[in-house]
Parts: sequence; structure tokens; C-alpha cells
Amino acid sequence: MPMRGVALAAVLLPSLALAQAHQHGRSTVMITFEGKRLAIEVVAPGPDIVGYERPPQSAAEQQALAAAVALLKTPSALIDLPAAARCTLDEAEVTVEGYDAPAAGAPAAAHTEFEAAYMFTCVDPSAIRVIGFPFFAKFPNSAELEVTLVTDRGPTVYEVTRDKPRVDRGNALWRWLTGR
Ligand SMILES: [Zn+2]
Repeated sequence: MPMRGVALAAVLLPSLALAQAHQHGRSTVMITFEGKRLAIEVVAPGPDIVGYERPPQSAAEQQALAAAVALLKTPSALIDLPAAARCTLDEAEVTVEGYDAPAAGAPAAAHTEFEAAYMFTCVDPSAIRVIGFPFFAKFPNSAELEVTLVTDRGPTVYEVTRDKPRVDRGNALWRWLTGR
């Protein structure tokens, strides 16, 4: 590998890490409509999900980590899609970052994160007007979700809070008028 490439990577990495730093209490949810398919991606700061942000230091913490992963693989417990849409889960994938013990001599990760990706097939995706987030009930440290709905008309961002844990897309006329 040329030395120049190594030096460049060393300069770029810290600023990249800074740009991607998350805000504790705030997760992001991306919901993409593609015909009958519905893709949902959740990125959550580690402390929101398990209450700690470093490798587990006890059996209880290890257990909390495993329980969180199991819960994240069950999106029906976290995201409430209207029954009328008749969505079925095709895939659920959960990625955990920063909870592994660092290699000898290496620093622990500054932040930890959970990422979950779900793929649904829905008989009637147009029935998805209100989306509820029992997510907050399952993860007491979470306070806000930044939810982006992506349709063929583009993205719309909703700020969802513990006090009002739902996205309401309004009625069809309102959606047509606003382009949402
Ligand atoms: Zn963090």
C-alpha cells in the first residue's frame, strides 16, 4: 500500500467518526415504500437500547445485550403497522457495533450502536397511514425517533417523541395536497 494512502486515511478517520457521532436518546428510522415491499432501517445509540456504551462487564449486561438483539429481531414489538396493510415480515437483520472487547492495547469504541434492517411485503401498503412506535415502551432510555418516510414522491421527515409515539400521514387528500 502506498504511504500516501495511509497518511490520508489517518487524517480523514477522526473527522468521519465525528460526523457520524449519534445523539443519545435519539434514534433514526428509515421507512421506504417500494411497491408492495416495505424496508425499515433503525439505527439506535447503544445506551438507548441497553443503558451502557462499552463492552458488557457482567453476566447481567451480557444478558441485556442478548435480550436487546432478540427484541430488535421482532419488529412487531417495536413498530406497529396497521393490520389493514397486511404486512408480513420477510427478513430481520440486527447488527451490533462497539460491544466487542477491544483488541489488546486498542482503545474501546467511543460509541456503540444497534442497527436493525427489516423487509416486509404488504398486501395493501396504502393502508399504512398511522405508524405506532411501541419501541419507546420497550426501550425506556429512548426519547426521540427521527422517522423518514420515503415514497415515490420523495422523503418526508417526522419527529416522533415518547409523548406522541406515532407517525400520522393524514388522509389521502391531505397527502395529495402536500405531496406527502
Ligand atoms: Zn454514544
